[in-house]
Amino acid sequence: MNSDILIVGAGVIGLMTALECSRAGATVTLLDKSLVGQEASWAGGGILSPLYPWRKGNAISALRNWSERQYPLLAAELHESTGIDVELSQCGMLIADIPDQQLAENTLAERNMPFRWLDSGEVAHSHAGLCLSANPALLLPTIAQIRNPRLLAALKKLLEQQQVKIFENHQVTRFILNQSGTRVDYAETPHGEFSADSVVLTAGAWSPGLWPDINSGTALPIFPVKGQMLLLQAPIGSIPSIVLSDHQYIVPRKDGHVLVGSTLEKTEFNKVKTVPAKRQLKHFFDRLYPLFSHLPVIKHWAGIRPGSHGNPIISRHTEIENMYVNSGHFRNGLNLAPASARLVVDMIVNREPIVPVAAYRL
Ligand SMILES: Cc1cc2nc3c(=O)[nH]c(=O)nc-3n(C[C@H](O)[C@H](O)[C@H](O)COP(=O)(O)OP(=O)(O)OC[C@H]3O[C@@H](n4cnc5c(N)ncnc54)[C@H](O)[C@@H]3O)c2cc1C
Repeated sequence: MNSDILIVGAGVIGLMTALECSRAGATVTLLDKSLVGQEASWAGGGILSPLYPWRKGNAISALRNWSERQYPLLAAELHESTGIDVELSQCGMLIADIPDQQLAENTLAERNMPFRWLDSGEVAHSHAGLCLSANPALLLPTIAQIRNPRLLAALKKLLEQQQVKIFENHQVTRFILNQSGTRVDYAETPHGEFSADSVVLTAGAWSPGLWPDINSGTALPIFPVKGQMLLLQAPIGSIPSIVLSDHQYIVPRKDGHVLVGSTLEKTEFNKVKTVPAKRQLKHFFDRLYPLFSHLPVIKHWAGIRPGSHGNPIISRHTEIENMYVNSGHFRNGLNLAPASARLVVDMIVNREPIVPVAAYRL
């Protein structure tokens, strides 16, 4: 099977990359080892911002800002073309327990990001029932969320409409290079070979295992980080915004579902759900919303993030001219996906990049 661009891994990064390739006029094949969008991108909370945006450098901020502008257009296109409402909502994020208040204030002001400090009376008024141990809390009113499982389903449907060839249950076992080791000839799967002019690796936490490290030293610094999450059902509209405290968060969906997350566990590739993690997350929710502590946990899951030490890696291989990677988005894949996808396709088709590329190079 041959196409202009072959994409390996169909999480949010692979799906968005496929969409950008298709928009650039390329024929696209997308492979996944299992079903589309069932790994980290499904497990995530759908918060469209880094948790503490002022602590992230300009490289992540640039991708986030570009993506923030694209999401409303994408959500509208997905709704119109597929009938799926991805529930993009600018619900805001309230952040408690901030030790670096001055840094937050200076950086947010520099980046023109709206914010407001709320005292305990204002928190009580805007978030009935919320118990914060320290005040003031910081409200970032423009931060949005998206219903990520719906986003993935809608992207899949849109790509199928655009004639992108999607092969599920096609695990790439390795890339076969030409004799001089400068080009990928094809990707090997148990069901056959797939070749293309360019290959993009978007296999999330699994990317390093597939990346050809020919001269050793070009390995991908990406590693698995497990995150566990709980789901509860609260009265609709009872929690008005995302609430973040001490690196854990509550994300209220429109229909009253509430996500409580998430753990950060350096691990191998296991998605085992643990009782201590469930207790820790439930305790966190109960402490913030004692009013709702009677609510039972209706679902508990785990996902494997593509961990990295800094920026995502959006880059061409240093030795293999037709091989690219778009991976390592750690806790921010959903909020950075539109810009990351656009940037890697800018590189492939040799277009002016939306942001300078140096910060994301391998
Ligand atoms: C609990 C949790 C909460 C999170 N919350 C948020 C949030 O609120 N906001 C945010 O922005 N981010 C969040 N994240 C992070 C975000 O989910 C990830 O950064 C993002 O999903 C990474 O996307 P991806 O497409 O690179 O990886 P994945 O979604 O993991 O997709 C990789 C795909 O590659 C496929 N694959 C792997 N190996 C192969 C192979 N050999 N051949 C073919 N296919 C292969 C897999 O099957 C998978 O479908 C969260 C993550 C977790 C786990």
